[in-house]
Amino acid sequence: MSVYKLVCPHCQARMRIRTSDGVHLFLRVAYLQCLNERCGWACRAQFEMTHELSPSGMPSPGIKLPLSPRAARSKARRHVAKAPTAD
Ligand SMILES: [Zn+2]
Repeated sequence: MSVYKLVCPHCQARMRIRTSDGVHLFLRVAYLQCLNERCGWACRAQFEMTHELSPSGMPSPGIKLPLSPRAARSKARRHVAKAPTAD
């Protein structure tokens, strides 16, 4: 498992999430602060789930995101491979 590393664009030190608010199921607003005391830069950021890459094994009926272009191509290839042939 990898952890997304937040890096300050000014001094390249790590940043921490001070607080965050859920705007809706797919969007979270976070307030970040640089851990370098000499820098101290802070900003607002957004984390948004935008596309489905792989379907859930426990799908909830109200949760629907568009397929990512890559996942859509992969699904189309699987569909074509399963389709009966004309002869
Ligand atoms: Zn910084």
